[in-house]
Amino acid sequence: ISDYLHKEVLVIGLAKSGLASAKLLHQLGANVTVNDLKATDTDAAVEELRDLGIQVVCGDHPLSLIKDKTIDLVVKNPGIPYSNPLVALAVEKNLPVITEVELAYKISEADIIAITGSNGKTTTTTLIYEMLKEDQKQPLIAGNIGTVACEVAQNATSDNVIVMELSSFQLLGTIEFKPAIAIILNIFEAHLDYHGTKDEYVFAKGKIYQNQSGSDVSIINLDDQEVCERSEKSHAEKLFFSTTRELESGTYIKDESIWFKNERVIYLKDIVLPGVHNLENILAAVSAVKLKGVSNESIKKVLTSFTGVKHRLQFVDTIESRRFYNDSKATNILATSKALQAFSMPTILLAGGLDRGNEFDELKPYLDNVKAMVLFGETAPKLERIANESGIEVIKRVDNVEQAVSAAFQISEEEDVILLSPACASWDQYKTFEERGDIFIHAVHKLK
Ligand code: ADP
Repeated sequence: ISDYLHKEVLVIGLAKSGLASAKLLHQLGANVTVNDLKATDTDAAVEELRDLGIQVVCGDHPLSLIKDKTIDLVVKNPGIPYSNPLVALAVEKNLPVITEVELAYKISEADIIAITGSNGKTTTTTLIYEMLKEDQKQPLIAGNIGTVACEVAQNATSDNVIVMELSSFQLLGTIEFKPAIAIILNIFEAHLDYHGTKDEYVFAKGKIYQNQSGSDVSIINLDDQEVCERSEKSHAEKLFFSTTRELESGTYIKDESIWFKNERVIYLKDIVLPGVHNLENILAAVSAVKLKGVSNESIKKVLTSFTGVKHRLQFVDTIESRRFYNDSKATNILATSKALQAFSMPTILLAGGLDRGNEFDELKPYLDNVKAMVLFGETAPKLERIANESGIEVIKRVDNVEQAVSAAFQISEEEDVILLSPACASWDQYKTFEERGDIFIHAVHKLK
């Protein structure tokens, strides 16, 4: 990795990924400067970097960092927009601006399986990881999921496989990134606030395929037109999956089972994860791990026991024949509509949260099985209007998730599903969607 030796590198943004990139580049012999708006001289990370001899500039993004110095490379935090003046100047000067995912690729001895999409990334990444692990394939998990990719890559050998969840923000900062297996699950219009236009967002996702060659594989959701269009440019071998069509050589559903090419992998009835959307995630995961030689036995072991990633339509418990699901991660209407489509039995929906100006009319087509709604948070009045207009008879307003659980339990009957899928972010009442989900789980267990 002599690419970085004696190079002048500016790292913008000192979150976990900035810290890891700066340390890595320093180790590789680069002259590193780190710049962060919010950090202060007394932060542990700042002290750690300075002890290594790395220059850290806090409190501002001075343009002089690029103007007064010859910079060879800029590594930016994925969350910092290109409209940031310092980043904009770097682009104007034609400097390479990357995210740490690019570094991870450059130093990795292990093959990379990269997963992106608007929804389902974490679930699919976790499924792939668990299946590879079950089959003793020594996977490492990285990316959005919490472990910084370049740190994982640094410790990986050619015996490992890195399973990497990637956001469009991370992908925008790639140049040579070339995963052995790449997946785009789906493309919805999301994050328009950052990317500006849908084209730009789709472009970012499409970058996952851009450098792939004949020895690589692009896994493509045949049911998503946007994904199919993006994949047209890929030079890799293409492997399709579909929940709606039988395919000769991809991953698909036939005779109530999942098939990979001409092999039956598992009966649908044996899969624990609910919902068509999860079936898409599962087909994508099966495609990837079959390419890596994972046995059907190992795939079955995971799919018959995996109850979902925490807070993503996660099965919590059955209490007095009522089944409780935690989908706190459903912070938008689309995610909640997917959750509702996963159940064909009477459902009590717990929803509400931060008001972003949505009117929620798009939820109406999915409320057929919803017998009652328990509402909380800023959007409760808006959701109440939707519930009324949809003819839902039982509508309760409560102050918070904890009260929602007991209210739902009181009005429930045997065989009901009680589902927290708020369709809103949590920040009006809770720090994070994780905190909101944990409160739900705790309240459910207290019912016992
Ligand atoms: P991400 O990591 O992309 O945010 P997650 O796996 O964390 O995705 O799932 C987030 C939410 O998105 C889930 O709660 C679920 O409701 C919804 N979801 C998951 N997979 C899909 C999919 N394939 N298509 C549409 N929605 C999905």
